Amino acid sequence: MLADKDRIFTNLYGWQGWDLAPARARGVWNDTKKLVAMGRDAIVEEVKTSGLRGRGGAGFPTGLKWSFMPKEPDPKRPSYLVINADESEPGTCKDREILRFDPHRLIEGALVSSFALGAHACYIYIRGEFYNEASNVQKAIDEAYDAGLLGKNAAGSGWDFDLYLHRGAGAYICGEETALLESLEGKKGQPRNKPPFPAGAGLYGCPTTVNNVETIAVVPEILRRGGNWFAGFGRPKNSGTKLFCISGHVEQPCDVEEELGIPMKELIERHAGGVRGGWDNLLAVLPGGSSTPILPRTQCESVLMDFDSLREAKSALGTGGLIVMDKSTDVIYAIARLSHFYMHESCGQCTPCREGTGWLWRVMQRMVKGNARVEEIDMLLEVTKEIEGHTICAHGDASAWPIQGLIRHFRPEMEKRIRAYRDAAHRDAAE
Ligand code: SF4
Repeated sequence: MLADKDRIFTNLYGWQGWDLAPARARGVWNDTKKLVAMGRDAIVEEVKTSGLRGRGGAGFPTGLKWSFMPKEPDPKRPSYLVINADESEPGTCKDREILRFDPHRLIEGALVSSFALGAHACYIYIRGEFYNEASNVQKAIDEAYDAGLLGKNAAGSGWDFDLYLHRGAGAYICGEETALLESLEGKKGQPRNKPPFPAGAGLYGCPTTVNNVETIAVVPEILRRGGNWFAGFGRPKNSGTKLFCISGHVEQPCDVEEELGIPMKELIERHAGGVRGGWDNLLAVLPGGSSTPILPRTQCESVLMDFDSLREAKSALGTGGLIVMDKSTDVIYAIARLSHFYMHESCGQCTPCREGTGWLWRVMQRMVKGNARVEEIDMLLEVTKEIEGHTICAHGDASAWPIQGLIRHFRPEMEKRIRAYRDAAHRDAAE
């Protein structure tokens, strides 16, 4: 279990104030000037040493991503950092806690990270529904300007730095980094074709890095305590601490910071009070938000909560948002409900996603009742494969994976329901 002294997010539950004075008391803005004085290359190297991988879902190595940005300044094409605070994945509520209870940690991270990227400006794109969170972040930005921590010679570092907060309008797809950039530019939030990637042509066609809130918020502490300290948690290539959100059929749904690679069972039992009705009452878990394939109890017994262990289990760490389902769950209905979500949130640009997500949902509705033929399970699987990997952004994959997980682990349940429906129909006809 992660010791309290190793926690980065010491105000995760809002027990202390979120504004500047309590944040300073927690160590935020402590010698920020010295962190910047390390220099761009040293900061990027330290982040590489830490093994930090993006905390927004994809898990791309942060230091490597940063190294794609131009090294020399170009006045005609300034560099930007954009922070993705459009947290909308069902089952995920970790960035929200940083935004509302510890915004200064994020703002300090924005300054240090922007310096490492050669960016004098950074935008935080926050989910529109996060009204209170946006209010706290904006007040914290204002406080930081008043205290000389942002603006000209930010925090006495010699680096001029401006930070802007931009509120989204509530579209899930704007959490995809290029859709986010389109929206930030004032256009319809639709993902761009890649390449070019944002580091080459991002915001306003300029070099841009898009990072998740948690990723940026941990950077100052990594620099203060050293990359090796952060790399000391978890396993190689899966290092550091991580915020997990545990919801669903547990005794105490919660957010918690833990070591990456903690066994799923331990995470649920230690921090969320265990599964409702005991561990044996567990049916399955979506381990990293709604788009990650479901894992049945047998796999949940031993899987580790990190990138590689969950990939080996044919699922993903995603955002670290666990949705726990006990045996009272109608798992086919639960996945069908997610199909409706992905259909509703498709931006409609690519045919496999626009048409496919609706098709999946319609068939899943019939699967919920059992009003289908057993062969249609294979057809359903086939269509998910036609969507996966054939679209502009990962939304298509996200719509396919929950259904693939369902068929992989709960096919007998689906077949049983189809047979029960058919038997009932035969009985009715006979009567
Ligand atoms: Fe839009 Fe879906 Fe295509 Fe992504 S995959 S660009 S959400 S239609």
